[in-house]
Amino acid sequence: MEKSANKFRNKLKWGSILGLVVGTIAAAAWIIFQAPAPIVDRMLKTDISKQAELWQRRVMSHLDDPAATFDHGYVSYSDVLYLSLLPQASNVYRFKLFSPDGTVQWSTRKSDIGTTNGNSYFQDVINYAEDYIYTKQVPISEIDGIQLNSGSANTRLHEVVEIYRPIVEDGRVIGAIEFYTDITETRARFITRIRYLLAAICSLGIVATMGLSMLIYRANKSQYNALQLKTDMEKGMLDEQLRLTREVRLLGELNEWLQSSRSLDELFTMVAKFMTHILPNAEGSLYVYSNSRDVVDGCVSWNGGHHKDHIHPESCWGLRRGRTYEFGKSDIEFVCEHTDTEDKRPYFCFPILAHGETVGLLHLRSCPDHVTNFYANRALAQMCSEQISMAIANVRMRDQLQDQSVRDPLTGLFNRRHLTETMRKTINASERNNTTFAILALDVDHFKKFNDNHGHDAGDMVLRSVGTTLQHHVDGDEVACRPGGEEFTLIIPSCSHEDAMTRAEAIRQDVEAIAVRYGEKTLPRITVSIGVSLYPVHGRMTQDLLLSADDALYEAKARGRNQVYICDNAALSAKQLDEDAATQNIEVLNASDIEDDDDTQGNKVA
Ligand code: GH3
Ligand code: MG
Ligand code: MG
Repeated sequence: MEKSANKFRNKLKWGSILGLVVGTIAAAAWIIFQAPAPIVDRMLKTDISKQAELWQRRVMSHLDDPAATFDHGYVSYSDVLYLSLLPQASNVYRFKLFSPDGTVQWSTRKSDIGTTNGNSYFQDVINYAEDYIYTKQVPISEIDGIQLNSGSANTRLHEVVEIYRPIVEDGRVIGAIEFYTDITETRARFITRIRYLLAAICSLGIVATMGLSMLIYRANKSQYNALQLKTDMEKGMLDEQLRLTREVRLLGELNEWLQSSRSLDELFTMVAKFMTHILPNAEGSLYVYSNSRDVVDGCVSWNGGHHKDHIHPESCWGLRRGRTYEFGKSDIEFVCEHTDTEDKRPYFCFPILAHGETVGLLHLRSCPDHVTNFYANRALAQMCSEQISMAIANVRMRDQLQDQSVRDPLTGLFNRRHLTETMRKTINASERNNTTFAILALDVDHFKKFNDNHGHDAGDMVLRSVGTTLQHHVDGDEVACRPGGEEFTLIIPSCSHEDAMTRAEAIRQDVEAIAVRYGEKTLPRITVSIGVSLYPVHGRMTQDLLLSADDALYEAKARGRNQVYICDNAALSAKQLDEDAATQNIEVLNASDIEDDDDTQGNKVA
């Protein structure tokens, strides 16, 4: 569109210049061919007028008796001699003398003598004492003194001037003279000269006009170019402002959305979506340090970018050097191992920092078609990485606070709050899916005595070890809690009665096997008693199930500690237990079983 407009403007420009030149030449030609004739005629008329005055004086001074000649036609011999010689001695070819009434008193053409001129212009000459000059074209045969043979030469026309001049004496017009003069050659010569002169002037004029036009054109062009440059600059500034406004708006929106994200997964989805809009010419991927901090996990990629599951921090120059790495800008540079080393497209690696700690990596690589202007995006990309850093830090901090509110600080297990919340959810899920689940209530045996003997710190270390052991025993949806003191609770979803007993026994044995080093010595081993309750056999409500597990624990304590007990609750649900046992082929560990076990296990805590 712009190109065709430029072409049209160029055509218009050259068209105008050509038009101007042609117009100027045409005007010059018109002036050269048309103007000289009227100018020359005017000049000649003036000249002839002077000539007439001269002839009047000559006649008056040469005639013997001018008054008699004009009044009566008296012409002396010397007069005849003088008058007859006139055509030969001058450019006048016919000469007449008139009396005031128009009678030709003498003429170089004898046949005219005695004739009368009755024309009104002659009367005007006499009455007003004015010259009468009349130019006409006559055949050459009309001119006296030219001898012609025959043929086409007769038809050639000559420019001839006929002049009447009044003869004034003592303030009175006593007659008039008339003479003819052939001005053909003089006129042609003057016209040619004037034409040459005009041609020279016009040529100079054309050259001057063209030079002036070129000067004006150049001045206009430089003015136009300056204006164009200014317009382009203003357009560029406006574009830049619009781009900045858009970027600021998108960054603001990105910030707002990222701040409102509840989890890292949600945040990664938002980052991918926004980055595609903010930097459409760059493909990207985001990595975040794993909890172990030995690798960086690939979280999300966008716009055609790819991320690996894990990369080693050492494989990225950005992470290694702790600052932004720009690839493709220097003469000597190295490709990060986590990228495609064959691909030479430029890229950025922004380490993502939060609270002074590197939490991940933002990798941006130019799309194939936008390699050249890729570095223009650096500042914006940097701002994006900062926004993402802050958002990740916020989500992490929120997660930490959330975690702290549901974790027990000593063991790292969940606290009572989380226990009741998990109970509620597990009951709902079990009710929905028609499954059973188990609650294991653990209590360290004779722990007061242990504390008394070894100190509270040693007791804490033991509790921590018990927590770690329990943590190893839970998997997936299973939850280990420390509701308080030396008591622990495990929730094991989708668990049969038999599985619950097997798991509880395994835990009991593992706890019994714990050996804790405290200072120079190894602390005595501790044991736990475990009470088990099952949903829905021992209740469908949180409180009922916890109470049931506590009852079983109490019974395990009563039966000698360091053992697992499940209330048979015969009165409550004997039938259900039997059914359960029958279907799942589980041996119900009841009071009699435990008594048997007591003999073998004994009470391991003194
Ligand atoms: P039992 O076998 O009947 O459970 O006897 P026990 O001594 O364990 O029971 P008791 O309830 O009498 O004592 C519990 C003790 O657990 C009291 C307290 O000193 C100890 N204890 C509770 N919480 C903590 C704790 O956080 N750290 C330490 N070191 N000891 C604790
Ligand atoms: Mg207790
Ligand atoms: Mg106890």
